[in-house]
Amino acid sequence: TPPVGVLALQGDVREHVASLRELGADVREVRSVADLEQVAGLVIPGGESSVIDKLSRIFGVRDAIRERIAAGMPVYGTCAGLILLADELVDGIDGQQTFGGFDATVRRNAFGTQSDSFETDLAIPALGEHPVHAVFIRAPVVERVGPDVEVLARLDDGRIVAIAQGALLGTSFHPEVSGEQRFHERFLQTVRATS
Ligand code: GLN
Repeated sequence: TPPVGVLALQGDVREHVASLRELGADVREVRSVADLEQVAGLVIPGGESSVIDKLSRIFGVRDAIRERIAAGMPVYGTCAGLILLADELVDGIDGQQTFGGFDATVRRNAFGTQSDSFETDLAIPALGEHPVHAVFIRAPVVERVGPDVEVLARLDDGRIVAIAQGALLGTSFHPEVSGEQRFHERFLQTVRATS
C-alpha cells in the first residue's frame, strides 16, 4: 500500500495514525502541500470542523486538498472529517466552509446537548455480520444524500450516520476510539485499488 496521510491540523490525529499503523500502513501526518503530495489517500480526523477549516487556510493546504478530492483521492472523514467532506453544511459557525466531495448535506452537532455523546451498536451489512460499536461525540448527521451516495448505516430512528461515494468514506462516529478497524481497512483497500 502506498503511503497514506492523516490531516494533522487539529483533532484526534494520534488515534487515526495508530489505527492505520496497526493495519500495517505507512502513515504520514499532513500539514502542508508538500506533505499532501507524498500520500495516496487522506484521513480527516474528528475534532472541531470550523477550526480545521480555518487552519487549512492558514497552513495553505485547503485548495490542494479540494483539488485532490476532485481528482479522486481516497478520503475517509470521521465526525468533523465527515462535515468537512460535505458539499453542504447546516449549522456551521463563523462562516465555516467545507472541502466538499460528498453530494450530501450534513448537520453539525445534530444531537443537541441532551445526548451530546453516546455509544450504540450499528448493523452495517457492507462491513460484514458483526455490528459496529459506534461512539458519537457532538456528532453530525447526514440530512440529504444525492443519487451517487451509498448509505452505509442509519440509527434506529432512520438518521444517516455513515456514507460512501466513489473513493470517499464518512462516518458521524469515531471507529478510531473504539478499536473498530473495518472502516480504516476499507479506506486502505480503496487506496490500493485507486493507485
Ligand atoms: N462538533 C464537532 C464539529 O463541529 C465534531 C465533533 C467531533 O469530531 N467529535 O466539528
